[in-house]
Amino acid sequence: MRQSKLLMPTLREAPSEAEAASHQLMLRAGLIRQLAAGIYTYLPLGRRVLRKLEQIVREEMDQAGTQEVLMPAMQPAELWQQSGRYDVYGPELMRLRDRHDREFTLGPTHEEVITALVRSEVSSYRQLPMTLYQIQTKFRDEKRPRYGLLRGREFLMKDAYSFDEDFDGLHRSYTSMYEAYNRIFTRCGLNYRPVEADAGSIGGEGGTHEFMALADIGEDTIAVCNSCDYAANLEKAEYKLSQQTTDTQQNNDAAMVRHRTPEIKKIDQLVEAFGLGADAFMKTLIYVADGAPVAVVVRGDHEVNEIKVKNALAVAHLELADQATTERVTGAPTGFAGPIGLQIPVYADHAVLAMKSGIAGANEQDYHIGNVIPSIHLTDVQAGDYRNAAIGDGCPRCETGSLVFYRGIEVGHVFKLGTKYSEALNAKFLNASGSEQPLIMGCYGIGVSRLLSAVLEQHSDSNGIIWPKSIAPYQVHVVPVSAKDQVQMDLAAHIAARLLESGVETLLDDRDERPGVKFKDSDLIGIPLRIVVGKHAAHGIVEIKQRNELEAQKLELEEAITFALRN
Ligand code: ATP
Ligand code: MG
Repeated sequence: MRQSKLLMPTLREAPSEAEAASHQLMLRAGLIRQLAAGIYTYLPLGRRVLRKLEQIVREEMDQAGTQEVLMPAMQPAELWQQSGRYDVYGPELMRLRDRHDREFTLGPTHEEVITALVRSEVSSYRQLPMTLYQIQTKFRDEKRPRYGLLRGREFLMKDAYSFDEDFDGLHRSYTSMYEAYNRIFTRCGLNYRPVEADAGSIGGEGGTHEFMALADIGEDTIAVCNSCDYAANLEKAEYKLSQQTTDTQQNNDAAMVRHRTPEIKKIDQLVEAFGLGADAFMKTLIYVADGAPVAVVVRGDHEVNEIKVKNALAVAHLELADQATTERVTGAPTGFAGPIGLQIPVYADHAVLAMKSGIAGANEQDYHIGNVIPSIHLTDVQAGDYRNAAIGDGCPRCETGSLVFYRGIEVGHVFKLGTKYSEALNAKFLNASGSEQPLIMGCYGIGVSRLLSAVLEQHSDSNGIIWPKSIAPYQVHVVPVSAKDQVQMDLAAHIAARLLESGVETLLDDRDERPGVKFKDSDLIGIPLRIVVGKHAAHGIVEIKQRNELEAQKLELEEAITFALRN
């Protein structure tokens, strides 16, 4: 490809609206342009990379024995009503009407469509197991589309769905996808971790893993053992319960002590006022769980994990109580809630109950109480794991490890669905003994366009992109230093033609630009190998340089071509 004809509008400066490094690089290197918030056009370079990613995904899906289909983006609302998701999916679901005023959605995912398809086309256990996948555009009206392709409103996803006779079969299908995902992300040159994730009310045993690209911009926190391979999303992360206790007992009897604490509501204010560590306090939060107020108590240095609370209470909705509710149930403004004397259920985290004594809100404006001794005063609470794991907590799986945290970008997700959709949409098959049974399903997503961003978050330097070879838009960049020098141009064109003949994707910078501009662009777009044709062209000598190395090397023409073919 001749660069003078390539639509590759590079930019010197990153546009100010782009916060994420990957977003800046994609705009600067001319990979994408925005049409509307979270909606992008892929320019030729971006399209080429996206195709490479798709191809890797396809090859590994084929390898795993799955079949490719392509389902419509436009889906009748009735299907979503049948599954019950039309109402619960909320404002992320794009809705539209046709000329007959019939309602449709633009698919954010395809469980409904695939289940309806398989319901009518698969009827016998003899056809199972079966896994179908597609690579297709998804639509989600995200509240905060941002970071370029990382969170789009229109994005490319690979979604696969498995259908099995029983849960053992599901486990095999799931494991096969899990392994395919490892191969895919490894081939893309991604630094990633599969992590255990929260399966909500469905999913069952070992029900879901997320594949996280490690990157500071990631929206998820993952807890990873520094010794074994345990890794989990923080929302799910467990930890080893320790017997460590905090002792702030102020006298030897069991009497609680009232402290006047005007306007002191937050843990850091309490820490300052009392001159004690945050772990000396009991932090009480009032929630509304499926309409009923409850109190959750964690140690002052810990954070409530709402997903764990939600799962433990087996409720569908959990939200922090508003001020009025808090005042009604505690008799005090927010900031003075405590576990003593409440008339609502109290859920106390294990670490609170392991305290010898602590200081808690008094349920009275401007007061806290000290010398709260769990073994005496908190006998009426429900103990459980209601907090986030913390850095340094013991690993829940091995004896010696402790947890460290990373930020992660969720690039893939594997999930055991069970019969959620097959039951809702009545998708059954005849088993070997001739009776009808709902299909057992799994679903498996990869954000293909998000993956492009995630790779870029990990593969660049201050000059621009450094593509992993497996997904680079071109393998070789041939750069004649002066377009006006016919000898240089001829040799460069010769090299490009020779490489192309051998099937090497080659970009020839035939533009009449200053060398500085050409080299800057070349670094920015990050093609793995650069061949510079300069003043030694007349002697058949060129310079080659790999994008991820500092030093260039002078080589004779044939050596250079051999080198390019070998790499
Ligand atoms: P997130 O928590 O990031 O919103 P999700 O749980 O909604 O993700 P899934 O429904 O599991 O995502 O979708 C499968 C995959 O699609 C995700 O693992 C992710 O890689 C990708 N994905 C989801 N939402 C977006 C988006 N708005 N833009 C780009 N990719 C996305
Ligand atoms: Mg989402």
